[in-house]
Amino acid sequence: MKPRHPETPAPPDAAARRAVAPVVCYPPEGLPAPDLAALRAAFGTPRSVARITVPPREARAFRVPAGHLFRIRCTEGPQVGDLNLWSAADLTERFFSGKTRALHGTHVSTGDRLWSCFPYLRPMATITADTLDWYGFDEHGASVHDVIGTRCDPYTHALLSDGGQYHHCCHSNLTRALAAETGLPLGVAEAHVHDVLNVFMCTGFSRATGQYIMKASPVRPGDYIEFLAGFDLIGALSACPGGDCGSEHSSDAARCHPLEVEVLRPEGLPEGWAEPRPAPYDRSHGAG
Ligand SMILES: [Zn+2]
Repeated sequence: MKPRHPETPAPPDAAARRAVAPVVCYPPEGLPAPDLAALRAAFGTPRSVARITVPPREARAFRVPAGHLFRIRCTEGPQVGDLNLWSAADLTERFFSGKTRALHGTHVSTGDRLWSCFPYLRPMATITADTLDWYGFDEHGASVHDVIGTRCDPYTHALLSDGGQYHHCCHSNLTRALAAETGLPLGVAEAHVHDVLNVFMCTGFSRATGQYIMKASPVRPGDYIEFLAGFDLIGALSACPGGDCGSEHSSDAARCHPLEVEVLRPEGLPEGWAEPRPAPYDRSHGAG
């Protein structure tokens, strides 16, 4: 946090320096939006091919073939989900929360894409529906589906609770789920777990202090967010021990609910649809 009483006196031109107008780091004109109308017209009536229930304070992995949809649905009560995505062909290509945030903002919704890490940087999934898109940003500057948090984890919990041990943080849940799906040893699977998309979570930054804030999720049974997989994916979703994340996490105190993941096969895809290619950088990094 910034000091309440700075040690350095403000320079005479402080007001002028602060008054400089900001610009958007990555103007959206450089990143053409997906043609949602064409996608939806081609989807027709998608057919359900798999349905996975994620129990409270647990995670489950799932597979989504290229060009298939997956929906994360609130079924019984307000619940936050922590989502990880990997290329099914190579676990080292995984969701890049930070660059997704830089490209699309702190919270994502319909039309935004979930990008993969370097040296790929291609859309892993495109958000094709979001029943919470009406929420926008509230008076606290908060919104839903953030790419600003990381995932609740037992290391931070131990640090902040004088060595407390809790084993159902999203980080541990995702680790167990990936290990179970792939057969990898727990320690190897853990290294593949990464910063998440916080599905349904309502978060922001305090305007006064810049601290990460959360409030009870506005999600209700029936709400869902839907994605189109750009290529073959493994996903893992954790039903966060924080429940609706209105008070605390990293404990069994909050009321928690299951979440559902449904994988669907659309009737079709738009003419010319193809798996996205990695960003066209030559990877020479200026050497030689
Ligand atoms: Zn969590």
